[in-house]
Amino acid sequence: MRRKHSSIELKSPDQIKKMRAAGRVVAEGLAAMAAAAKPGASTWDLDQIGREVIARHGAESSFLGYAYPPFPAVICSSKNQTVVHGIPSKSDVLSEGDLMSIDYGAIVDGWHGDAAVTVAVGEASEEHARLTEACRTSLWDGIAAARVGRRLTDISHAVETSIRGSGSYGIVENYGGHGIGTSMHMEPHVLNYGKPGRGPHLVAGMALAIEPMIVLGSPTTEELEDGWTVATVDGSWAAHWEHTVAILDDGLWVLTAEDGGRAELAARNVEVSQLAGSSD
Ligand code: MG
Repeated sequence: MRRKHSSIELKSPDQIKKMRAAGRVVAEGLAAMAAAAKPGASTWDLDQIGREVIARHGAESSFLGYAYPPFPAVICSSKNQTVVHGIPSKSDVLSEGDLMSIDYGAIVDGWHGDAAVTVAVGEASEEHARLTEACRTSLWDGIAAARVGRRLTDISHAVETSIRGSGSYGIVENYGGHGIGTSMHMEPHVLNYGKPGRGPHLVAGMALAIEPMIVLGSPTTEELEDGWTVATVDGSWAAHWEHTVAILDDGLWVLTAEDGGRAELAARNVEVSQLAGSSD
Protein backbone atom coordinates (compact mmCIF):
# COMPACT_ATOMS: atom_id res chain seq x y z
CA MET A 1 0.00 0.00 0.00
CA ARG A 2 1.28 3.42 -0.87
CA ARG A 3 0.98 5.96 1.90
CA LYS A 4 1.26 9.69 1.53
CA HIS A 5 3.44 12.06 3.48
CA SER A 6 2.47 15.54 2.40
CA SER A 7 2.88 15.25 -1.38
CA ILE A 8 5.80 12.86 -1.20
CA GLU A 9 5.17 9.31 -2.44
CA LEU A 10 6.15 6.69 0.15
CA LYS A 11 7.00 3.18 -0.98
CA SER A 12 6.42 -0.15 0.71
CA PRO A 13 9.40 -2.53 1.03
CA ASP A 14 8.06 -4.56 -1.90
CA GLN A 15 7.82 -1.44 -4.03
CA ILE A 16 11.38 -0.48 -3.16
CA LYS A 17 12.49 -3.93 -4.30
CA LYS A 18 10.82 -3.20 -7.64
CA MET A 19 12.70 0.10 -7.81
CA ARG A 20 15.88 -1.89 -7.19
CA ALA A 21 15.13 -3.92 -10.31
CA ALA A 22 14.99 -0.69 -12.30
CA GLY A 23 18.11 0.56 -10.51
CA ARG A 24 20.01 -2.56 -11.50
CA VAL A 25 19.22 -1.98 -15.17
CA VAL A 26 20.48 1.59 -14.81
CA ALA A 27 23.69 0.44 -13.09
CA GLU A 28 24.38 -2.15 -15.78
CA GLY A 29 23.72 0.25 -18.63
CA LEU A 30 25.83 3.03 -17.17
CA ALA A 31 28.76 0.65 -16.60
CA ALA A 32 28.55 -0.53 -20.21
CA MET A 33 28.32 3.00 -21.58
CA ALA A 34 31.14 4.27 -19.37
CA ALA A 35 33.37 1.46 -20.65
CA ALA A 36 32.50 2.36 -24.25
CA ALA A 37 33.15 6.09 -23.84
CA LYS A 38 36.43 6.03 -25.76
CA PRO A 39 37.92 8.47 -28.28
CA GLY A 40 36.18 7.99 -31.64
CA ALA A 41 32.90 6.72 -30.20
CA SER A 42 29.90 8.99 -30.63
CA THR A 43 27.31 9.81 -28.01
CA TRP A 44 24.81 8.12 -30.39
CA ASP A 45 26.84 4.90 -30.02
CA LEU A 46 26.49 5.16 -26.24
CA ASP A 47 22.75 5.74 -26.53
CA GLN A 48 22.49 2.55 -28.61
CA ILE A 49 24.15 0.63 -25.78
CA GLY A 50 21.69 2.15 -23.33
CA ARG A 51 18.79 1.09 -25.54
CA GLU A 52 20.14 -2.45 -25.85
CA VAL A 53 20.46 -2.91 -22.07
CA ILE A 54 16.92 -1.61 -21.48
CA ALA A 55 15.53 -3.88 -24.19
CA ARG A 56 17.39 -6.95 -22.92
CA HIS A 57 15.78 -6.55 -19.49
CA GLY A 58 12.31 -5.89 -20.90
CA ALA A 59 12.46 -2.45 -19.29
CA GLU A 60 11.45 0.95 -20.64
CA SER A 61 13.33 4.22 -20.83
CA SER A 62 12.47 6.98 -18.37
CA PHE A 63 13.88 9.57 -20.78
CA LEU A 64 12.71 8.61 -24.30
CA GLY A 65 9.78 10.83 -25.28
CA TYR A 66 9.91 12.71 -21.98
CA ALA A 67 8.33 16.21 -21.79
CA TYR A 68 8.35 18.66 -24.70
CA PRO A 69 9.96 18.75 -27.14
CA PRO A 70 9.94 14.96 -26.54
CA PHE A 71 13.43 13.87 -25.49
CA PRO A 72 14.73 11.74 -28.37
CA ALA A 73 17.12 9.36 -26.58
CA VAL A 74 17.53 7.06 -23.57
CA ILE A 75 20.54 8.98 -22.22
CA CYS A 76 21.43 12.59 -21.70
CA SER A 77 25.03 12.96 -22.90
CA SER A 78 26.45 16.17 -21.50
CA LYS A 79 30.01 16.83 -22.60
CA ASN A 80 32.52 19.37 -21.28
CA GLN A 81 30.70 22.74 -20.93
CA THR A 82 27.32 21.00 -21.22
CA VAL A 83 26.00 20.51 -17.69
CA VAL A 84 22.91 18.34 -18.21
CA HIS A 85 20.29 17.28 -20.79
CA GLY A 86 22.64 17.01 -23.79
CA ILE A 87 21.17 15.08 -26.73
CA PRO A 88 23.23 12.23 -28.19
CA SER A 89 24.08 12.38 -31.90
CA LYS A 90 26.25 10.64 -34.48
CA SER A 91 28.16 13.86 -35.08
CA ASP A 92 29.02 14.24 -31.39
CA VAL A 93 32.24 12.21 -31.41
CA LEU A 94 34.29 11.83 -28.25
CA SER A 95 37.88 13.07 -28.10
CA GLU A 96 40.72 12.33 -25.73
CA GLY A 97 40.33 14.37 -22.57
CA ASP A 98 36.59 15.05 -22.90
CA LEU A 99 34.55 14.94 -19.72
CA MET A 100 31.07 13.60 -20.18
CA SER A 101 28.10 13.02 -17.96
CA ILE A 102 25.86 10.13 -18.96
CA ASP A 103 22.42 10.33 -17.34
CA TYR A 104 20.19 7.27 -17.74
CA GLY A 105 16.83 6.15 -16.45
CA ALA A 106 14.85 2.91 -16.66
CA ILE A 107 11.36 1.74 -15.74
CA VAL A 108 10.59 -1.79 -14.55
CA ASP A 109 7.00 -2.69 -13.63
CA GLY A 110 6.15 1.00 -13.53
CA TRP A 111 8.96 1.93 -11.12
CA HIS A 112 11.81 4.25 -12.08
CA GLY A 113 15.55 4.29 -11.47
CA ASP A 114 17.71 7.30 -12.41
CA ALA A 115 21.47 7.79 -12.15
CA ALA A 116 24.35 9.60 -13.81
CA VAL A 117 28.11 9.25 -13.97
CA THR A 118 30.76 11.58 -15.30
CA VAL A 119 33.47 9.79 -17.24
CA ALA A 120 36.74 11.02 -18.64
CA VAL A 121 37.35 10.01 -22.25
CA GLY A 122 40.85 8.57 -22.21
CA GLU A 123 42.93 10.51 -19.73
CA ALA A 124 41.44 13.50 -17.91
CA SER A 125 43.58 16.48 -17.00
CA GLU A 126 44.45 16.77 -13.30
CA GLU A 127 41.99 19.65 -12.96
CA HIS A 128 39.16 17.72 -14.59
CA ALA A 129 39.87 14.57 -12.60
CA ARG A 130 39.61 16.62 -9.40
CA LEU A 131 36.39 18.25 -10.60
CA THR A 132 34.60 14.99 -11.25
CA GLU A 133 35.91 13.40 -8.06
CA ALA A 134 34.70 16.37 -6.00
CA CYS A 135 31.25 15.95 -7.55
CA ARG A 136 31.17 12.19 -7.00
CA THR A 137 32.27 12.58 -3.37
CA SER A 138 29.58 15.20 -2.74
CA LEU A 139 26.94 12.83 -4.10
CA TRP A 140 27.94 10.15 -1.59
CA ASP A 141 28.23 12.66 1.24
CA GLY A 142 24.72 13.83 0.39
CA ILE A 143 23.41 10.27 0.26
CA ALA A 144 24.97 9.55 3.66
CA ALA A 145 22.99 12.46 5.13
CA ALA A 146 19.66 11.01 3.92
CA ARG A 147 18.54 9.34 7.14
CA VAL A 148 15.24 8.79 8.90
CA GLY A 149 14.67 11.58 11.41
CA ARG A 150 16.65 14.16 9.51
CA ARG A 151 15.28 16.77 7.15
CA LEU A 152 15.50 17.30 3.43
CA THR A 153 17.96 20.16 3.44
CA ASP A 154 20.36 18.18 5.61
CA ILE A 155 21.10 16.41 2.31
CA SER A 156 21.49 19.71 0.44
CA HIS A 157 23.80 21.06 3.14
CA ALA A 158 25.92 17.91 3.13
CA VAL A 159 26.33 18.13 -0.65
CA GLU A 160 27.33 21.78 -0.48
CA THR A 161 29.70 21.29 2.47
CA SER A 162 31.40 18.44 0.64
CA ILE A 163 31.85 20.48 -2.55
CA ARG A 164 33.22 23.50 -0.64
CA GLY A 165 35.62 21.19 1.15
CA SER A 166 36.98 19.90 -2.15
CA GLY A 167 37.85 23.20 -3.77
CA SER A 168 36.56 26.36 -5.36
CA TYR A 169 33.80 25.06 -7.60
CA GLY A 170 30.59 26.64 -8.88
CA ILE A 171 27.42 24.83 -7.78
CA VAL A 172 24.70 24.87 -10.43
CA GLU A 173 21.58 26.28 -8.82
CA ASN A 174 18.79 25.95 -11.41
CA TYR A 175 18.77 22.15 -11.35
CA GLY A 176 18.82 19.55 -8.62
CA GLY A 177 17.63 16.21 -7.39
CA HIS A 178 14.08 14.95 -6.98
CA GLY A 179 11.73 12.42 -5.52
CA ILE A 180 11.34 9.34 -7.72
CA GLY A 181 9.09 6.29 -7.84
CA THR A 182 6.05 5.87 -10.08
CA SER A 183 7.38 8.88 -12.03
CA MET A 184 10.91 10.00 -12.68
CA HIS A 185 10.47 13.51 -11.33
CA MET A 186 8.36 13.86 -8.19
CA GLU A 187 8.26 15.93 -5.03
CA PRO A 188 10.45 16.99 -3.32
CA HIS A 189 13.03 19.03 -5.21
CA VAL A 190 16.47 18.37 -3.70
CA LEU A 191 18.75 21.40 -3.78
CA ASN A 192 22.51 20.92 -3.89
CA TYR A 193 23.14 23.74 -1.41
CA GLY A 194 21.51 25.43 1.55
CA LYS A 195 21.09 25.53 5.29
CA PRO A 196 20.42 22.26 7.15
CA GLY A 197 17.31 21.43 9.16
CA ARG A 198 14.65 22.61 6.75
CA GLY A 199 12.05 21.02 4.50
CA PRO A 200 10.18 17.76 4.95
CA HIS A 201 11.26 15.26 7.59
CA LEU A 202 12.85 12.21 6.04
CA VAL A 203 10.82 9.08 6.71
CA ALA A 204 11.06 5.43 5.73
CA GLY A 205 9.76 4.72 2.24
CA MET A 206 11.04 7.88 0.59
CA ALA A 207 13.14 7.49 -2.54
CA LEU A 208 15.23 10.38 -3.79
CA ALA A 209 17.47 10.98 -6.78
CA ILE A 210 20.36 13.09 -5.53
CA GLU A 211 22.41 14.76 -8.27
CA PRO A 212 25.06 17.40 -7.67
CA MET A 213 26.29 19.42 -10.67
CA ILE A 214 29.44 21.49 -10.32
CA VAL A 215 31.56 23.57 -12.66
CA LEU A 216 35.07 24.97 -12.78
CA GLY A 217 33.90 28.54 -13.37
CA SER A 218 30.63 30.42 -13.04
CA PRO A 219 27.58 28.22 -12.38
CA THR A 220 25.35 30.38 -14.58
CA THR A 221 23.77 28.20 -17.27
CA GLU A 222 21.71 28.68 -20.43
CA GLU A 223 19.41 26.38 -22.35
CA LEU A 224 20.36 25.97 -26.00
CA GLU A 225 18.03 26.24 -28.99
CA ASP A 226 17.25 22.52 -29.05
CA GLY A 227 15.10 23.09 -25.99
CA TRP A 228 17.12 20.66 -23.86
CA THR A 229 20.87 21.17 -23.72
CA VAL A 230 21.98 23.11 -20.64
CA ALA A 231 25.48 24.60 -20.86
CA THR A 232 27.57 27.00 -18.82
CA VAL A 233 27.47 30.55 -20.14
CA ASP A 234 31.21 31.05 -19.59
CA GLY A 235 32.12 27.74 -21.27
CA SER A 236 33.63 26.22 -18.14
CA TRP A 237 33.46 22.45 -17.83
CA ALA A 238 31.03 20.61 -15.60
CA ALA A 239 30.62 17.34 -13.71
CA HIS A 240 27.38 15.62 -12.73
CA TRP A 241 26.76 12.49 -10.65
CA GLU A 242 23.50 10.94 -9.53
CA HIS A 243 22.05 7.99 -7.67
CA THR A 244 18.57 6.92 -6.63
CA VAL A 245 18.49 6.10 -2.91
CA ALA A 246 15.75 4.57 -0.77
CA ILE A 247 15.47 5.68 2.86
CA LEU A 248 14.49 2.94 5.31
CA ASP A 249 14.24 2.70 9.09
CA ASP A 250 17.38 0.57 9.38
CA GLY A 251 19.51 2.35 6.79
CA LEU A 252 19.78 3.18 3.12
CA TRP A 253 19.68 1.27 -0.11
CA VAL A 254 21.35 2.95 -3.07
CA LEU A 255 19.17 1.41 -5.73
CA THR A 256 21.25 2.42 -8.76
CA ALA A 257 24.61 1.38 -7.29
CA GLU A 258 25.74 -2.10 -8.28
CA ASP A 259 26.66 -2.89 -4.65
CA GLY A 260 23.62 -1.15 -3.21
CA GLY A 261 25.94 1.52 -1.85
CA ARG A 262 27.80 -0.82 0.52
CA ALA A 263 31.35 0.41 -0.07
CA GLU A 264 30.72 4.15 0.00
CA LEU A 265 28.24 3.97 2.88
CA ALA A 266 30.59 1.80 4.96
CA ALA A 267 33.27 4.44 4.48
CA ARG A 268 30.83 6.93 6.02
CA ASN A 269 29.61 4.64 8.83
CA VAL A 270 26.11 4.42 7.38
CA GLU A 271 24.15 1.16 7.42
CA VAL A 272 22.78 -0.49 4.31
CA SER A 273 19.19 -1.56 4.98
CA GLN A 274 18.52 -5.25 5.64
CA LEU A 275 15.98 -4.99 2.84
CA ALA A 276 18.94 -5.12 0.45
CA GLY A 277 19.60 -8.69 1.65
CA SER A 278 23.04 -10.08 2.22
CA SER A 279 24.01 -10.63 -1.39
CA ASP A 280 22.32 -7.75 -3.18
MG1 MG B 1 17.58 12.81 -12.13
